[in-house]
Amino acid sequence: MLIRPEGMLHRDGGLTKLCPMLVIRTLPDLRAACAALRAARGSLGLVPTMGALHRGHRALVRAAVSAGGASVASIFVNPLQFGPNEDLSRYPRDEPGDLAALEAEGCDVAWLPDVATMYPADEATSITVAGPAERWEGEARPGHFRGVATVCAKLFGQVRPDAAYFGEKDWQQLQTVKRMVADLLLPLEIAGIETVREPDGLALSSRNRFLTVAERDQAPLLYAAMTAAARTLTDGGAADPILAEARERLTAGGFAVDYFALVDGPSLTPIDAATPGARLIAAARLGSVRLLDNMAVQAGVLPSSPR
Ligand code: AMP
Repeated sequence: MLIRPEGMLHRDGGLTKLCPMLVIRTLPDLRAACAALRAARGSLGLVPTMGALHRGHRALVRAAVSAGGASVASIFVNPLQFGPNEDLSRYPRDEPGDLAALEAEGCDVAWLPDVATMYPADEATSITVAGPAERWEGEARPGHFRGVATVCAKLFGQVRPDAAYFGEKDWQQLQTVKRMVADLLLPLEIAGIETVREPDGLALSSRNRFLTVAERDQAPLLYAAMTAAARTLTDGGAADPILAEARERLTAGGFAVDYFALVDGPSLTPIDAATPGARLIAAARLGSVRLLDNMAVQAGVLPSSPR
């Protein structure tokens, strides 16, 4: 059901939001809305999400809206990117809160497909990305990036955006989607948006709500350890001892470290000293919560402060 289809007809030069956001749940309605919006506004930006929206997601929507064209945000908790031991049913959901957040950011369309729409019962196609998807999260979560790549390809086919916005927070995901788009010659741009953090440096994540009070107190150590390592690496230090020290610091602070590595940003290949485009990437667990973070490491460029 297309809610308030007249919403897309009354715009004030694209600058002032006069009309309510469209909330769309079927593919024919989505296609009609996207065609009309693309014709009226010249271009379309897509923000794929799994909902439970926070300020990080909102920064992506804000970037899409401020690009000047029309904006679509999808909310779909994608079963294909969850492993058998990962609790899909535990993933937080807050549709009313999400719709209010999208509307407040000036988003034009909220796209809320159901599982049957995204994954037809007789489907036989999925997308596997090698290269940047192989290591790290690819090893820790087998099948995860197949799920991400497949759902993104479907969303790109449904919305046909000119640009799609992804968070640098999920650095390997961003590089995997960029690789897929380049390899499949898909006609859209992938924009990476800087990680939004709590004042103490913790990267915002839908999963942070599962931290206990004590774990929440420990959590900023991940950002602190990355910042310290990034500074030493930019001074020209060899990676191995710097990374080992950071891992020890995290372990002493109560984390179970899955990886803490220096990689070439686009390819995610390990490197042994900071080079242009180098990135620190980390995954570490506090209790049942797995925290992911990453940071640019570049001579002369200090790590960004939380915002
Ligand atoms: P998710 O709903 O977790 O699939 O995330 C949807 C998008 O929001 C992805 O592109 C994420 O990288 C991005 N995102 C999540 N957390 C943040 C954050 N703290 N800052 C910026 N982007 C984020």
